[in-house]
Amino acid sequence: MDCEIITIGELVSGHRVDTNSAYIARQLTRLGINVKYKSSVGDSMSAMEECFRLALRRAKIIITTGGLGPTDDDITKKAIVKVFKRNLIFNEDILEDLKERFAKRGLEMPAINQNQALLPQGATLFPNKHGSALGICISERGRIFISLPGVPFEMKQIMTDEVVPYLKELNQDQALKIVSLKTIGIIESKLAEMITDNFRLGQNVKLAYLPAPSGIELRISATAENEDEANEAVQKTIREIEARVGRYIFGREDDTLEAVVGQLLVDNDRTLAVAESCTGGQLGMQITVTPGSSKYFLGGIISYSNDVKIEQLKVDQNIIEKHGAVSEECAMAMAKGCRELFNSDYALSVTGIAGPDGGTEDKLVGLTYIGLSSIHDTFAKEFNFGSLREINRSRAIYAALEMLRRNILDIE
Ligand code: ATP
Ligand code: MG
Repeated sequence: MDCEIITIGELVSGHRVDTNSAYIARQLTRLGINVKYKSSVGDSMSAMEECFRLALRRAKIIITTGGLGPTDDDITKKAIVKVFKRNLIFNEDILEDLKERFAKRGLEMPAINQNQALLPQGATLFPNKHGSALGICISERGRIFISLPGVPFEMKQIMTDEVVPYLKELNQDQALKIVSLKTIGIIESKLAEMITDNFRLGQNVKLAYLPAPSGIELRISATAENEDEANEAVQKTIREIEARVGRYIFGREDDTLEAVVGQLLVDNDRTLAVAESCTGGQLGMQITVTPGSSKYFLGGIISYSNDVKIEQLKVDQNIIEKHGAVSEECAMAMAKGCRELFNSDYALSVTGIAGPDGGTEDKLVGLTYIGLSSIHDTFAKEFNFGSLREINRSRAIYAALEMLRRNILDIE
């Protein structure tokens, strides 16, 4: 079943950013419905009609958001009845509900809200718990056309409580299973090369690569006649993927690297401290995003200047003079000094040239050293992240967390 999502209104001018279509697409994908097109159209009757007609030609399910309000610029319903050659019919019960809704809030209903009781003939209505615009559903000649309000929290409530169960019912003869594997420390093309080497996906299985600053997510989905079959196809694929690239996989679904590392520290009863230069505290911040991080995270030093590196972390001044603050030696000294200062089991350090300035011929922007000190030893690794400041900083954070994960799990 192919679907098109249409967002309507101010979005086309760039004043509002469309988040609705992403939300809806995620819900549909989970149901095994293929989102084939997304489009956006402004509050223009002719453009909207054209857009709806096109969608009805190329998709079976159409879901729109926006333009269901009571004001003059809300014309979605008018466009719907034009395209479906129906009338808008006044619904007395809905009007009563609306009046009651206003009365409950101690307000008198403005006359223009009466418009919201005007609904396309023969449409199924989806109640809106948080607002006055109802969801509308028209089923005709094998097409399902659903219209939802634009306000995100209203749209989400109707999607979850009404639309998803409705579409699930329609799509019963097909089961879909989706599993996400989270990887870190390997680039997309290399990952793909390693996975596809001598391995072919089943016909009903799809594999998507979704890159994010925290690594590449592998989304494995399978469709089958029933749940067991879909599940088996996904599990088989996961086993193959794990055999090839298992060492890069740190978690599944909503797992975050910082939470996974945090759990490892808890499981091993270990503590962590950080010494940050170019990341300016972001590593500490990321670690403390996880609830309960106080169990293992002791604190950090933002040693942005050389003076702080020397005075707080006891980095030998000679190291900085001889090798520079962005060096393997300095990263090691920072990590070691940090672990001693905090008396922690592990310490991570980051020192690098985030850019855009500060690079030289032999030390380019993006050059970063990450140090790790543990009760066993202290070492540092060199990374070359790139030329964009924000990306360098976020890559440094995930690379540091990954270094710790591998060290604890004794990978490589
Ligand atoms: P209302 O009754 O509030 O007029 P409506 O169904 O007519 O609702 P719109 O007027 O199109 O919806 O949008 C209302 C508000 O919802 C917009 O101002 C915007 O903040 C938000 N909104 C609309 N469409 C989207 C979208 N696709 N993504 C995110 N937010 C949206
Ligand atoms: Mg509106």
